[in-house]
Order: sequence, then structure tokens, then C-alpha cells
Amino acid sequence: MGRIRILPDLVANQIAAGEVVDRPASVVKELLENSLDAGANRISIVVEAGGRKLIRIIDDGHGMNRDDALLAFERHATSKLRTADDLLSIATLGFRGEALPSIASVARVTLETCPALPAETLANEPVVGTRLEIAGGRILHVDDAALPRGTTLAVADLFFNTPARRKFLRAESTELAHVTALVTHYALAHPEKHFELASASHTIISAPPVARTAERIYQIFGKDTLSQLMPVAAETPLQRTGLPEPPPWKRDPNEPIRDPGSMRLSGFYSKPELQKLNRNSIYIFINKRIIRDRLLMHAITEAYRNVIPPTSFPVVLLFLEMPPEEVDVNVHPAKTEVRFRQQSLIHDFVRDSLRTALIQARPAAAFLAALDNSPAASTSLMPPAASTLPGSPGASVVVDSDPESPNGAPADAAAFQLTPQQPTPVPGKLPFDARSQHSCGFPGPSESLQAWGDAAAALFAPGSVPPAVIGSESRATGTGLAEYSAEVASTTAEIEAEQAAANLNHLGSLKPLAQLRESFILASGDDGLWIIDQHVAHERVLFEKILRDRQVEKVQRQRLLMPLLVELRPWQMVVFARIAEELERNGFEVEPFGPHTLAVKAAPVGLEGAELERMLAEVIEQSGAESGESPQNQDLTTLRSRIAASIACHSAIKVNTALDPVRMEWLLLELAKTSHPTSCPHGRPIALLYSWKEIQRAFHRI
Ligand code: ADP
Ligand code: MG
Repeated sequence: MGRIRILPDLVANQIAAGEVVDRPASVVKELLENSLDAGANRISIVVEAGGRKLIRIIDDGHGMNRDDALLAFERHATSKLRTADDLLSIATLGFRGEALPSIASVARVTLETCPALPAETLANEPVVGTRLEIAGGRILHVDDAALPRGTTLAVADLFFNTPARRKFLRAESTELAHVTALVTHYALAHPEKHFELASASHTIISAPPVARTAERIYQIFGKDTLSQLMPVAAETPLQRTGLPEPPPWKRDPNEPIRDPGSMRLSGFYSKPELQKLNRNSIYIFINKRIIRDRLLMHAITEAYRNVIPPTSFPVVLLFLEMPPEEVDVNVHPAKTEVRFRQQSLIHDFVRDSLRTALIQARPAAAFLAALDNSPAASTSLMPPAASTLPGSPGASVVVDSDPESPNGAPADAAAFQLTPQQPTPVPGKLPFDARSQHSCGFPGPSESLQAWGDAAAALFAPGSVPPAVIGSESRATGTGLAEYSAEVASTTAEIEAEQAAANLNHLGSLKPLAQLRESFILASGDDGLWIIDQHVAHERVLFEKILRDRQVEKVQRQRLLMPLLVELRPWQMVVFARIAEELERNGFEVEPFGPHTLAVKAAPVGLEGAELERMLAEVIEQSGAESGESPQNQDLTTLRSRIAASIACHSAIKVNTALDPVRMEWLLLELAKTSHPTSCPHGRPIALLYSWKEIQRAFHRI
């Protein structure tokens, strides 16, 4: 008898479950995606004990009839795909037909669903709903039931029959934080839909529909966060479709030529002053699907190169829309990774759009905000892509896909504080306590908003208050959705306007008033009082000039009267040899002078004496810290900007240097001409605005 056997369905499903559902958040993800695919406009989720005990999701989507409800739990049963060709252009979030059978194989599931009334049905003919119970993959009951339109899925006792998996679940608060993160993501991607998330005792997210993403950000994260984000939008037509064309002899001459469509980008990016220590605050959505992607992460980091420090990361919410043929979503069982069919095009589009937006917006750093804005790590709101079970198929993916966690390990969501960082105002009621006209039975009134958005708020600047305050008065007085929406819309617009006004466009017309401790320039403008760091301002001016001059090979050099002799250690000599050519193109003339010594005969104009020596040591040190690849492989752009930044830093006006008004004015004018007057090449802020409004507020005039 042979050794090979076909696995029973239950085992096969449990294996699939290992890839698709590894924690409550991944169950929520699959169920949420199903509800969205079903066209739901209102999705309400309740979790108990971090989702281990219960996850219940209620939607008002198109529902299922009895046959479909039964089929849905079969392996590879899906309504979203028919042929292999459909895989090439997937427009739904789900398509694998794996989630429901996988979940049902490791939990006790109750499905209640009722399809929408077909148009031809007589109004008085009852539409029958279906109630189905499954535990550990076995159907226990199927009954007709009178139900409202839509689907309710309750998943109880997750992993009750797979103790090994249950053991790897984290603390309830951690699991809840992951669930919160997930719902937050989807809520951001669908501002027009109503999302609710509640635990047994609290409402965590309550986001009634709003018109725009900015309003949703305000709704979920609050004013502070929104005012640190800038909008970006761009579009580019595609030259060709991502799918390969059939060879000419296979082409049907009658087939119309396909329009390759276009790629659109919209979203928000943080001002340079807001810096994070990891990439956890970068969210990327492709066609409203949240994904992790190294290519786009790289594009984003590139956009911020020399605007924020290389060790810091921005906050970015990026929504990319493209024809489904451009992206292969069938790469990963949890569908969190994708493959682009035109990789470099997308990479450059994202990088350039963000960079252009940054250059155009020239956001000013507010004096008060800059005070609190030391780089902070934020906890990932993205559940790890794969299981943390040792040896499970996805275990390595976690590390792979999350290289940005400080220690290379998956971001540990245990760091999530579900206790508020600041006392959270607790409005008496939620706005929609009176909403329960919906017959699906949304959860009852919540007692408090204590945990509301805490996990989500932890994402952004520490101390950003979960916006439970927002609209709280109107909530308390029980006004309706219309007033609430209007209020959110008007506050959001106000924040946006205020923020757009605070830019560096008028730097050139500022009037220098005085120099503070011979280090900072005080200047007045219509918008308030500016404080400009003279050293970093000049550094930025020089940095951009050096890069420009280098580009056209026009760096000005000056001969030194006496060659400067620099002693180097052997490893430093090796590094020097590697970067010598680029140094020469930047105005250096350096020759070896014995085995351990270099003779510098010429240097870029403005760089002299001890500073010259320090600059060389710095560049060699920094380049040596790299892996020691040959110059061909080394990223030349990195080297160039490193050299430019170093020359700029060491030749710029120092602090503690007196400047007369003419030179101050000159510096401001030159700074105004740069692309990124916001920050020096190392990412420090250059100019801070103490806005007129802040001044008035501080003097209690408003
Ligand atoms: P997939 O989403 O990949 O198709 P699932 O196992 O998640 O696979 O779901 C199987 C099928 O069940 C779906 O294709 C869909 O037709 C149906 N279904 C699941 N959830 C819902 C829902 N909330 N509302 C309506 N139909 C649903
Ligand atoms: Mg699905």
C-alpha cells in the first residue's frame, strides 16, 4: 500500500487556516473584507476578550441565500472568481475562497444572512434568511430565520480545537490593539462607510460616514494629527498595460486596443518636523487594499531623503488606484503583499509625487509643535503578516516584511497602551445611540469612550488626544448625523486651511529683526514671528548648491597655499580609495603622501583648515560604516548627497557668529530659493513659526 494519502477536508482547512488566520485580527480582516466585497455601507464589529472569545461582525451588504450560505464554507468556494483569467485582474478584496472554511475549521461559527430583495419579488413575499451553525468545520444546524438584509457572522472560541495556536495568542489588550488597527485601516480607506468597533464594555471606534479622507483622519485621530499631515494627489497615464501583450500572430485584429488606464495617488504625508523611528506609521493601500511593500516603502524614504534624518521615517497614508491588471494580489495567503507589473514606474511615480508635494507645500514647522516632536517610535498598527508560531510557513515572512522594527523582530504590539496616555474626555453618549432603527441589532449604547482610538492614537504623536472630544457636545445633546457631518466637515476644512497657510513661501519677504545670541535670526512676517537657525539655513542653501554644481560638473575649487596632510588608518585609506573619484568631482584634489597620509592640495571653495579635515574624516567614517561595496554597486546618489551634506555642514555659517542685517536678509532670500527650506540635509528644522494666532492665544487675546 502506498504511503501517500489525500488529507481529509478538515485537516486541509486547518492547514489553510494556519496561513490565513493566525490571530483574531486576521479573522477580522477576512470578515471585514467579505463585508466590503458584499457592498456593505455599515459594518459593526464586536470583540470579546480580544477576539478569542467572540468576534461578531454585522453588515448590511447583499447577503446570501441558503445555498450560497452553505457553499461559502466549502473550500475554494467563491463568488468572486470564475476562471484563471479572472486572477489577472482582481477587483475584490477576497478571491481565494479560503477564509470562511478556514475560520470555521478552528472556531464555532454562526452565520445569519439574508439576501437583498430581488426586484421582481412581490413586496409581500417574505425573504427568508438563513441561520447556520458550524463548529470545528462541522455543520451543526441550518435553519430558516426571519432576518434583516445583510450578514452577521459570529466567530466564537477561536482556536478551541487547536491548542497549539491558542497558546501563541498574546494578551487580550494586544490582540484588541491589532483588531483596532485593522478596523482603523479599513475605516481610513472607506470614509464613506460607517464603521464601528466595540469590545464587551467599550466603543472603540465609531466612525459615521464622512465625505473625505481628511475628515475621516480627523474623526479617528483628531486635530493634532490632521494638522501635521499634508495632502497629496497626483495622476499619471500609463503607457501600456501591465500584462504582456500576446504576440502579433495571436492577436485578434478585431479586438479593440486596450486603454492602459492611469495610476492615481492620493493621501497624506507628514511635515518634515514629524519624525518616527520606524516605518509603522506608513500605510499603503492599493485599490483600497492595505498592503506591505518594500518597493513603495523605499520610494517614500527616497522622497524624504535629506529632508528628514536617514534614521527617521515619516507618517504617510498613501492610496494608490490603478487598473487591477497592474497588480498581482495573489502572492500571499493573507493578501497583504502584492507584486506590481510595472515596478519601477510605480516606484518613481510615488517618489516623485511625494517629493513634488513636499517641495510645493513647503510646510512650516510650528514652534510649539516642534517642541514635542522628537522622533518617536510608533507601534505597528498592521498585524504581523504571518504567524508567530515557530516553524509555521509564514514565520520568516514576519521578519522579512517588517525589517524596520528596531531589532529586526516583528513589532511587538504588546507595547500598545490600551490605557489612555492622557485622560480621555468621556462624553456622555455616542452620537448614534438613537441609531438602532437598524434592525440588525447594533450593539447597545456604550458606557464610555475610554479606549476609543487609543491604540490608533498611539500611532501618531504621543499626546495626541483621541478625538473623543470631537462633536461630543452635539453627541451629548443627541443631534443627528447631518449636524455631526457638518461639524466634522467644517472643523476639518478649518484645520486644513490653517495648515496650508503655514508655509515657507514668504521666507524671502520676511524682515529680519535681530539676531538672538548670534545664532538665530528673528524675523517678522504677516503670519507671525519666525526663528531661523542660521547654521542649518546656510547648510541647506549650500547643500542644494553643491548638488546642483556637481550635477553640471561645475564645483568651484580653491588651491590651498600649503597642502593639508591628513593621517589615516589603513581601513580609512581603503574607504578613501573607494570614494576618491567622487571627492575629486566635488572639488577636492587629494593625493596619497606615503602609506598612511593624504595630501589635500585643493578643496571646494569655503571649506578650510580644521573644518576641511573634519569633513574628510566624517565622510570617510560614514562611507566606511557601509558594507564596503565597490563604487559601482554603491548607491552613488547616497554618496553624492553625503558628500554635499558634509561639505555644506562644515562650510556653513556657524552659530555664535554675528551677522549684519544685510547678510541676514541675504540668507533668508537664498533659503527661500531652495527646494526644501523646511529642514537641513540631516533633517533638523530650519525655521520655526510662532504664528500670529499662537501669539494672540498665548497673550489671551483670543
Ligand atoms: P472569498 O472572499 O475569497 O470569496 P470567503 O471564504 O471569504 O472567500 O467567502 C466565500 C464566499 O462567501 C464569498 O465569495 C461570498 O460570496 C460569500 N460571503 C462571505 N461573506 C459574505 C458577506 N458578509 N456577505 C455576503 N456574502 C458573503
Ligand atoms: Mg473573503
